[in-house]
Amino acid sequence: MIILGSTGSIGVNALDVCDRFGITIELLAAGSNVALLNSQIKKFNPKFVCIFDGSKANEIEGCGAEIFVGECGLLEALAKTTGKKVLNAIVGFAGLSATLESITLGKEVALANKESLVAAGKFIDTSKIIPVDSEHFALWYLNKGGDISKMVITASGGALRDAPLEEIYASSVTDVLKHPNWTMGRKITVDSATMVNKLFEIIEAYWLFGSGIKYDALIETSSTIHAMIEFKDGVTTAQMSEPDMRLPI
Ligand code: NDP
Repeated sequence: MIILGSTGSIGVNALDVCDRFGITIELLAAGSNVALLNSQIKKFNPKFVCIFDGSKANEIEGCGAEIFVGECGLLEALAKTTGKKVLNAIVGFAGLSATLESITLGKEVALANKESLVAAGKFIDTSKIIPVDSEHFALWYLNKGGDISKMVITASGGALRDAPLEEIYASSVTDVLKHPNWTMGRKITVDSATMVNKLFEIIEAYWLFGSGIKYDALIETSSTIHAMIEFKDGVTTAQMSEPDMRLPI
């Protein structure tokens, strides 16, 4: 297994899942958190390691792993791997090149990096993508074909859901980062508070499931129902589970 963004919230959960199921790790890639990366290298003994921040490269305790640096280094490292599954949990636009390169190399991408689809969905072969985002995992889980009229993803509403409008303008970073249901990285937590994340996810769903379906989002404050599918015959199915990213991972 290849884990990109191993030091982040999704990356750490993914390594927990790999540990539980005895899955070996071929490549670990991180941004700059060299201390956590070193402890992951020690535990999982990957063949290849990549760090985006070149100034930290000499602090890596590689245990025999081949070390790569920067965005180009990550693409070089990917090309050396033989494993066919990549989890892309890099945050932001920085994750796009790894998604494209992994698919070009014939690998399947478990995609947490929704920004890949938001920025470049048109250029990505989504038949090679397995959605890790909880709502899209839920749609994938529910989607058994049939005559679908609408796919609905849910939103918790984020940290500012219950704040009166006049207080939102004065919210501090600390307020915005207090997500009511999920523990996630900083960017997605802020995007949840502004609801931009849900807009990203509608775009993500469009590229994953196609243009012949209507998409909608609604607030479900407990984050128990992650998505629903409405069928033309009047049936609606829903996927429910605890808010724990290890399930979709
Ligand atoms: P985090 O901020 O917790 O982690 C981001 C990871 O990306 C870290 O390992 C970071 O390294 C690494 N990184 C940052 N920049 C670079 C770069 N230029 N090159 C290589 N690695 C880099 O984010 P999350 O885990 O929360 O989110 C990751 C992705 O998953 C996002 O796209 C997010 O939208 C999506 N997602 C997250 C969910 C969650 O529950 N957290 C749920 C659904 C989707 P370092 O820390 O070492 O700098």
